[in-house]
Order: sequence, then C-alpha cells, then structure tokens
Amino acid sequence: MDIAQLAEKIVAADRRALARAITLVESSRSDHRQQAASLIEQLRPTGRQALRIGLSGTPGVGKSTFIESFGMMLVESGLRVAVLAVDPSSARSGGSILGDKTRMERLSRHPGAFIRPSPSQTHLGGVARRTREAVALCEAAGFEVVLIETVGVGQSETVVAEMSDLFVLLLAPAGGDELQGVKRGIMEMADLILVNKADGDLKPAATRTQADYAGALRLLRKRPQDPQGFPKAICVSALQENGLSGAWDEMRTLADWRRAQGHFDGRRAAQAEYWFGQEVRQGLLAQLETPTARGQMAALGQAVALGQKTPTMAAKEMLAALATPD
Ligand code: GDP
Repeated sequence: MDIAQLAEKIVAADRRALARAITLVESSRSDHRQQAASLIEQLRPTGRQALRIGLSGTPGVGKSTFIESFGMMLVESGLRVAVLAVDPSSARSGGSILGDKTRMERLSRHPGAFIRPSPSQTHLGGVARRTREAVALCEAAGFEVVLIETVGVGQSETVVAEMSDLFVLLLAPAGGDELQGVKRGIMEMADLILVNKADGDLKPAATRTQADYAGALRLLRKRPQDPQGFPKAICVSALQENGLSGAWDEMRTLADWRRAQGHFDGRRAAQAEYWFGQEVRQGLLAQLETPTARGQMAALGQAVALGQKTPTMAAKEMLAALATPD
C-alpha cells in the first residue's frame, strides 16, 4: 500500500481512504502496524484538530438515539462529524456497539458524517490504541467533531475520557431519588451530565434526577480548569430533540474556556503522557507472553513451588532474563 498516497487522500477528506486507513490501524499484523505508524506520522503536520467528545452511558440510556439526533444537528449546521466507539464487550460478543446498521440511520447516510464501529480486540488496551489512532485519522481528514462512544461498564470510561477533550455522561431519569449507582470516579470524569428522556411521563423524574446530580457535582469537584458552574447536569430528550443545542452550547462554552486558559492543550499533553505510560506497560506485559518468556516463567514458577528459589529471587531472575533476551 502506498502510504504517502493514502495520507494525501485522507487530507483531501476521501472517506474511502479514511475507512481503509482505519482498517490499517486496526490490524495487528506487524507490517500493517508499521505502515499505520508511518501514516500517522505523515499526517501529524496537518495540525488539524477536532473537538473530541467522549460519551458514555449504560445500555438503553439512549446513546445511539442521542448521537443520531445530536450528530444530525451538528452536520446540518455544516460541521463534519465522526463517530467512533470503544466497546469493551466487542471481544466477547464479536462486535456490538455501532455494529448494528440500523443504529443512527439518518446520520450514517449524511455526507457530513462518518461512523465507524468499534474494532474487535481482546484487550481494551488494543482497542484504546486503535481508537486513538482512528481519532487522529479523522482529525487529519478534517472532521471538526469526533464523538467517541462507550458503553458505561467498567474500565472503558477511563479509556474514553483519556482520549477526549470533553467527557459527557448520559443518564436516564431515576425512579426514586437515589443516584443511579454511578461510580464516584466516573462522576469525577464527567464534564457534562445529560439526563436523557426528559419528555412525556418521564419529564418529572428527569428533572429530579438532574437536580440530584447537579447537587452531587457541586459537592464533588471544583477544578481550576472549569469555568463557573461546571461540571453541569442538564436535561435533554434525544428522541424529541429537545435541549440538544443547549447541550452543544455548554460543550462549546467549556471547550472555549479551556482553550483560552491553556487547559485544552494541557489536557491533551497530559493524555499523551498517560498513553505513553500505558503503551510502555502494555509492551512490558507483552514481553511476558512470548513462548520463551512463558517457558521461563513456568520453569521459575516451578522452582519457587518446590522451594528451590524464593519468589523474590525468581522474580529478579525473570526480570533479568527479560532485560537481556537472547
Ligand atoms: P443505547 O443502548 O444507549 O444506545 O440506547 P438507545 O439509543 O438504543 O435507546 C434505548 C431506548 O430508549 C430506545 O427504545 C429509545 O427509543 C429510547 N430513547 C432514547 N432516547 C430517548 C428519549 O430522549 N426519550 C424517550 N422517551 N426515549 C428515548
């Protein structure tokens, strides 16, 4: 594959080239990995920057409905919008999130939108790297907004928050007055909480839930990188398309403020450092998975079990062996 030509086409916003490039970054073949790295390197100088919006919420909360109507609003205003997904379950279920073609039907047909399902990978780490690279490709292709969706279960929120400029949490109206078991860590990541389904019979519950979360957010966090009143909780209805432009205004207010304060680039810099650390850790762990290393681990493990070596000594030996592979 001619990487220089592919890069040129991406910069010219050729969608097929973009799709091919994402397939390339998703591949785990080592020659593809090299080509992908070279492609990303060639595209870096474009300096194009999208607003990266992370979006999380439990299944059924209305993520696809929201992305469809919010995305349509953005593309109709002339913005180009890419939608990517990080799906922690794709390894198990063989790809689910965004995999269903009936999701986001209008948006997927719009020439201003580009939708890409989650790569199926066994490791969340692998999905994270591929998604980060896909984000970079979409930016180089001139998309102004990149939505990164994830199902709100476990680790994937952190992954998405660490590659987003803004992190948005979508919630459904709660039945009672309890906070919906949203973990504190996830609340802390959220820049904006959208209580969806604020329509019809659900409207009073949505308003209550919004007030509960607004209160919880006030108690939870004061961050210097936030303007007055953020993080915020507001009501929307993805189905009736209510509150969407308000939500977009909030996102822009926050992004503009962070840009003006230098926090926007600061956050990206901190994220780059975070991902560097993650890649090193993953690389080290991968070294344990080679056949030689597995053999050494098994042999040393047995020696420890037989009382021939202490765990500490055996671990030292193992690490030394990794440091000087033959
Ligand atoms: P996802 O699993 O988070 O992607 O959720 P979906 O977008 O598939 O929505 C789950 C269900 O909630 C569907 O039946 C939607 O029609 C419904 N839904 C989504 N948004 C709204 C909304 O704003 N109001 C109401 N009443 N229902 C909604």
